[in-house]
Amino acid sequence: MTGNDSSASPGAEDPRPGDPDIAGTAGNPIPHLDGNAAAGPLWELFRLDVIAAIGRCKHCGAVRAFGEASVYADGPGMVVRCTSCEGVLLRLVETPTSFWLDVSGLSYLQIDRES
Ligand SMILES: [Zn+2]
Repeated sequence: MTGNDSSASPGAEDPRPGDPDIAGTAGNPIPHLDGNAAAGPLWELFRLDVIAAIGRCKHCGAVRAFGEASVYADGPGMVVRCTSCEGVLLRLVETPTSFWLDVSGLSYLQIDRES
């Protein structure tokens, strides 16, 4: 007999990340920028100003201006996430010879024609 019941020890902490797809935790979020941070690289690719473009998130259906999205640029490449659900909208990686662009998180992107 041990008599040791530690099932409710008040000092034990078990930090669990809420979303394994996002490395940051509630107390230690990953620093990010707004959608304007993606303007330069996307301009280089398409010669389009996407900041005012309206995009629909494929994950939650939110329809927002691209400039409102969260941009994570600390990794190798850039990840743009929905501000409503944090789903990945767009990923962009630049290499010396290529751009790799994944827009599978966007149902559509509505870009106004310049008048
Ligand atoms: Zn979303």
